[in-house]
Amino acid sequence: MAFELPESIVISSQMDNELKGKKIEKAYMDPKECASQIKQGFINLQPPDFEKTVTGKTIRSVTNRGKGIYVQLEKNLYLVYSLETSGYILYHTNRDNLPPRWNTRLDFTDGTTLTVKIIAWGFSQVLTTDQLKTHKYLGKEEISLIDENEFTFDVFNDFLESYSSKPIKFILIRQGEEMSGIGNGYLQDILFKAKIHPKRKARDIPASERKKLYKIILKILTDSVKKGGRDTEFDLYGNPGGYRVILDKRMKDQPCPKCGTTIQKSNILGSTCYVCPECQK
Ligand SMILES: [Zn+2]
Repeated sequence: MAFELPESIVISSQMDNELKGKKIEKAYMDPKECASQIKQGFINLQPPDFEKTVTGKTIRSVTNRGKGIYVQLEKNLYLVYSLETSGYILYHTNRDNLPPRWNTRLDFTDGTTLTVKIIAWGFSQVLTTDQLKTHKYLGKEEISLIDENEFTFDVFNDFLESYSSKPIKFILIRQGEEMSGIGNGYLQDILFKAKIHPKRKARDIPASERKKLYKIILKILTDSVKKGGRDTEFDLYGNPGGYRVILDKRMKDQPCPKCGTTIQKSNILGSTCYVCPECQK
């Protein structure tokens, strides 16, 4: 699972419902599963320190900001997950059929369990409020892209202006900056619906198209939250979401749903992008 903004909102809300008030009887971190993330700094505590710090804590709340999921353990202490490439967060009502591989596991005093698997460059970090303030990626005051009061057209337009020479794909998936939450999973659908090619530079997109693009971003992300995330991803209970992705690997060499032209797979700015060469000029 790759968590983008809608999936992070869905799963943090499910976690808040399910886990708030639960006491962690024992926390585990698998040293083998976590070796590469510890080495790269994506996991910030060694397994024994993680287990010692987290065991015995009670979950106060679970919230999200951007793609980050913030599990509050104490007034000034958070366990933060950010699963940007792939992985899962799963809740288990008993311990009979836990998945064989996980990075961290929280056993609660009521017999339930949470397992978290991070693949590649996701985060699992235990951080104080002060550490969050100075964190390279997390804790920034980001604009919520599904909140029309924060993410206004003017804010979006200013953002396009400040990167006017850059391709639109670069601007929309820019990480850890003013806006975050869109990744390749939604970007392709957003640009397809807006009829904009990912390589098009911001300065070449006129106001009318910018307005349309802005509305489409809001609509797609809001729809996906309502539907429980993308149908290619899984929620806290292992269920796929109800947002049907338009453009992804299932569409390779398939006809465009709008015009019938064969969908093209290309590599744009370091990642795969599916594009309709006819609809997206
Ligand atoms: Zn088309």
